[in-house]
Amino acid sequence: MQNLDLKIQEFNNILKNIKKKEAINIGDTVYGEVLVIKDNLIVVGVNGCLDNKKVLSPADMGVVFVKNIDSKFIESPQDCFAKGDIILAKVSDISPFEYKLVTNYPELGVIKGHCKKCKQTLDRKALLVDGKIQCLNCGTQQTKKFAKLVE
Ligand SMILES: [Zn+2]
Repeated sequence: MQNLDLKIQEFNNILKNIKKKEAINIGDTVYGEVLVIKDNLIVVGVNGCLDNKKVLSPADMGVVFVKNIDSKFIESPQDCFAKGDIILAKVSDISPFEYKLVTNYPELGVIKGHCKKCKQTLDRKALLVDGKIQCLNCGTQQTKKFAKLVE
C-alpha cells in the first residue's frame, strides 16, 4: 500500500509540475510578496503573472539572488526590499522547487513598499533625490528598489 501511495504522490507531483510549466514561462513578469530576506537572496511568494493572467497557487515560491536585484552593485537585499513589499519580477529560470527571478530592470522592483520601522505603506511622493524614501508616518529614511512606473 505504501508503495502505491508513493506512486500516486509521484504522479501528482508530475502533474503539478506540468501545470506549473503551462502557467509560467521564462521571461514572464510575475508579482508577489517578499516573504523572507536573507543575506544573499529574498524569497517571494508568487501570486500571479502579468503575461497570461493565470492565478497561481499561493505555494509558488520565487527567489531573487542579490546579484540579480539591480543592474548596479547591491551589498545586501535589505537595502532594496523589506518583508511584505509587493514586487514585480521577471522569471529567469524554473526549477522543480522554485522560480528564479530577477528585478534588475528599471520597470521591475517594488510596486507597493512598506516602512522597515513602522510597516506603513510608503508613498512614492516621498522619494528623495538620492534614491532614498522617507516614511511620511515615522520619518525614517530608507532605500528601496522601486519599479519605475510606466507613464
Ligand atoms: Zn515608518
